[in-house]
Amino acid sequence: MAERLQNFVDGAWRTSNAAQALDVLNPASAKVLAEVPLSTAKDVNDAVEVAERAFLEWRRTPVVDRVQPLFRLKTLLEENREDLSLAITNECGKTLAESKGEMQRAVENVETACGMPTMMQGTNCEDIASGIDEHMIRQPLGVVAAITPFNFPGMIPFWFMPYAVAAGNCFLLKPSERVPITSQKIFALVQRAGFPKGVVQLVNGGRDAVNAILDHPGIRAVSFVGSTATAKYVYSRAAANGKRAQCQGGAKNPVVVMPDADMEMTTRILADSAFGCAGQRCLAASVAISVGEARPKFTEQMMATASRRKVGYGAAPDVEMGPVISAESKARIEGLIAKGERDGARVLVDGRGRKVEGFEDGYFVMPTVLDDVPPDAETARTEIFGPVLSLMHAGTIEEAIALVNGRSYGNMACIFTTDGAHARRFRYEVNAGNVGINVGVAAPMSTFPFSGWGESFFGDLHAQAHHAVEFYTQTKVVVERWPKEWSRKF
Ligand code: NAD
Repeated sequence: MAERLQNFVDGAWRTSNAAQALDVLNPASAKVLAEVPLSTAKDVNDAVEVAERAFLEWRRTPVVDRVQPLFRLKTLLEENREDLSLAITNECGKTLAESKGEMQRAVENVETACGMPTMMQGTNCEDIASGIDEHMIRQPLGVVAAITPFNFPGMIPFWFMPYAVAAGNCFLLKPSERVPITSQKIFALVQRAGFPKGVVQLVNGGRDAVNAILDHPGIRAVSFVGSTATAKYVYSRAAANGKRAQCQGGAKNPVVVMPDADMEMTTRILADSAFGCAGQRCLAASVAISVGEARPKFTEQMMATASRRKVGYGAAPDVEMGPVISAESKARIEGLIAKGERDGARVLVDGRGRKVEGFEDGYFVMPTVLDDVPPDAETARTEIFGPVLSLMHAGTIEEAIALVNGRSYGNMACIFTTDGAHARRFRYEVNAGNVGINVGVAAPMSTFPFSGWGESFFGDLHAQAHHAVEFYTQTKVVVERWPKEWSRKF
């Protein structure tokens, strides 16, 4: 029987009260890896009570001491990178190289949060009025929680956790129930890093655990990453309960290819963006708009690159793309390709109905390229979250920017060009929070906020960097007068 995963509460592993559990599958083989409990509201409540007690001491711990367990965690993450990366590949499907890259981004966020003694400094102004000084200080909120998606189980928890705890909060993670094994491994390292009991906790589960988090009066702030529908739901329920919320949603990322672009570089980078992580990335290129004369060469090279990509089990040598997460996901992606065809698109490279030798039960969809996708077709507007690139064409950069801005999502938009004026105009005019110029996955490094817009983000302060510091702290302004000192004769 598969191992039943545990929660991590009060510095120790605990069995959930859950009556229900789900199988965790390897999407390359459909083999069961473990069983994840669907924790109850009582599990969440127990963890929050422990965290509330731990907060009383943790917020009084000097910030220079609070970052010490993070320094140790960074080293532990680096020492265990291979093991963590293999866990990601086995439960999430991406290639080992992609998993290692993911863990690198996790480590970078820990490093950035180690700068908290500087990052959470306040401001002051002496003599703001006669004999009056004013100070703004940052204080932690209390207990905070993060709810994370399946596609980056090793990285996304680190967009939040290091900043939250370094700022003096106690933190609860509810990872995706589809990829909970990576979190078990991360928390085994959290346990060794020396955080006081109750400061960092893990509760596995699905909707019930999420609702318990959203309704719990002891949780002050909620960070969420997942699909737009769930992001909206989490944002409104958290807000209705008086919590701070930052909710990152889905995406449909357009890329513009100008006739002056370096076509070899553009197609190589775009193939990595569209088909990397099997397209299951919120920063995956999903619609490529070629402008004017760029069309024939770009289309031909994109077809060749897509057809060449080696697909298989992510830990096998030379594999460039793994499976999608589940049988349902594969069926949905293949259904959307068929719908695109019915809506008038031409399937130039068809990734449907193919098997990988030795992994016949795996959820593989090969790279797919659709051409002449009508702007109003579902394929052009819906997040497919699979290895499907839709091609569109525009006569001018104005038309291309209009197509980019005619969509509801705003996670990322990219342009490929060698003309600085085109690049500047694009950067200036596009409605997207993350912009790539000759870059296919414009993922902000940990020292910058992850700036989604539109239907890709609900809230005002984003993940990472100084936005995270602001999100996890509340400001207190002190206006101060000492009459004896002020009336002193000089
Ligand atoms: P999802 O919305 O299905 O699940 C995300 C989390 O919400 C999980 O922890 C899940 O347990 C919980 N959840 C799901 N349905 C719920 C419900 N009805 N009520 C309460 N909780 C619920 O997302 P996913 O499929 O795991 O992840 C893929 C999505 O995440 C894609 O849309 C992708 O674009 C998005 N994503 C966005 C970013 C970003 O930075 N904007 C980053 C990564 C992924």
